[in-house]
Amino acid sequence: MTVELITSRDVMAEITRHRLASFAIESQRYVCMKGEISFIQPECYIPGDTTSAIWRMTMAEAERVYHKLLENGWLSQDARKVLPNSTATRIVMKANLREWRHIFGLRTSPAAYPEIRV
Ligand SMILES: Cc1cc2nc3c(=O)[nH]c(=O)nc-3n(C[C@H](O)[C@H](O)[C@H](O)COP(=O)(O)OP(=O)(O)OC[C@H]3O[C@@H](n4cnc5c(N)ncnc54)[C@H](O)[C@@H]3O)c2cc1C
Repeated sequence: MTVELITSRDVMAEITRHRLASFAIESQRYVCMKGEISFIQPECYIPGDTTSAIWRMTMAEAERVYHKLLENGWLSQDARKVLPNSTATRIVMKANLREWRHIFGLRTSPAAYPEIRV
C-alpha cells in the first residue's frame, strides 16, 4: 500500500525509521520554496494563545530569512538550514500490509508522538 503524507520534518525523521518501508521525500535541496512556505501546526497549537503566537512569529521569521538568503544568492540547499522542524514535507511511503500493521501498532500507541498518531 502506498500513501502520500504531508507532515512536518520531525515526524518525517520518525516515520523514516521504519526501514522495511520505502520512501520518496520532497527535496529541500532541489525544491526552492519561492512563495509562501507551509508549516504544520503542532498538536499543542491553540489559536489565540500567546505561546502559539510565538510559534507563528518564529515560522514567519524563518520564512523571511529563507527568502532573504535566496535573494542574496544562496542556493535552496543552503538556505534550507534556517527552516524549522515544522516545515511541511511531502512524503510518498510504500510498505506491505504486514509492515503497515506493525507501524500502526507502534505509532498509534499512547507513547507515540501525538502528531504522528493522528
Ligand atoms: C513511541 C516511540 C518512541 C521512540 N523513541 C525513539 C527515541 O527516543 N530515539 C530513537 O532513536 N528512536 C526512537 N523510536 C524509533 C524506534 O527506535 C524504531 O527505530 C522505530 O520504531 C522503527 O522500528 P521498526 O521495528 O518498525 O523498524 P525497523 O528498525 O526498520 O525494523 C523492522 C524489522 O525489520 C528488521 N530489519 C530492518 N532492517 C533490516 C535489515 N537491514 N536486515 C535485517 N533485518 C532488518 C528488524 O530487525 C525488525 O524486525 C521510537 C519509536 C516509537 C514508536
